Amino acid sequence: MEMYSGYMGKLIEELEKLPGVGGKSAQRMAFYIIGLPQERVERLTGSILAAKEHIGYCRECFNLTDREVCPICGNAERDHSTIMVVENSRDLAAYEKTGKYKGVYHVLHGAISPMLGIGPADIKLKELIARLEGDVNEVIIATNSSLEGETTAMYISKLIKPTGIKVTRIASGVPVGGDLEYIDEVTLLRALDGRIEL
Ligand code: ZN
Repeated sequence: MEMYSGYMGKLIEELEKLPGVGGKSAQRMAFYIIGLPQERVERLTGSILAAKEHIGYCRECFNLTDREVCPICGNAERDHSTIMVVENSRDLAAYEKTGKYKGVYHVLHGAISPMLGIGPADIKLKELIARLEGDVNEVIIATNSSLEGETTAMYISKLIKPTGIKVTRIASGVPVGGDLEYIDEVTLLRALDGRIEL
């Protein structure tokens, strides 16, 4: 990094911290950004700042949105009595991309992990339980098939069982430890269709 000035080095350093960006890509991006017209750079940094400022959680499902209620929860055509529980907004996006799921979601923003000290109170779990007081027929647990995902699924099913609401778990066509967002649509739909009642 020493061949660049402090500013260039700093830019590369920050880009390198982004997920999936290695040293070489960070360098390529930095050169690209420096080569852009001033106005393009302002648009880029402006959209990052605006997204950070305006995006928060949906009041209902905790998906990321710039509205009080996200477009999925706000859509009367969706089946609001079926709630799919996912670990994060990226998993939600993966299911949404299939275009086949017509229910709504609940984003936990994490998974229970005793090893990392993440307990039930650290994810959006009580918010999920609060939603069950409404008209809910089925809760589909679509947490990842990692140890944390399975622990979370088991915990949720134990909490919901006594309410009499149907609890299902997506089938394990999903590779163990696999992040939902990297799995292709066919596998996702097969996992959803083959879900089993807990
Ligand atoms: Zn929502």
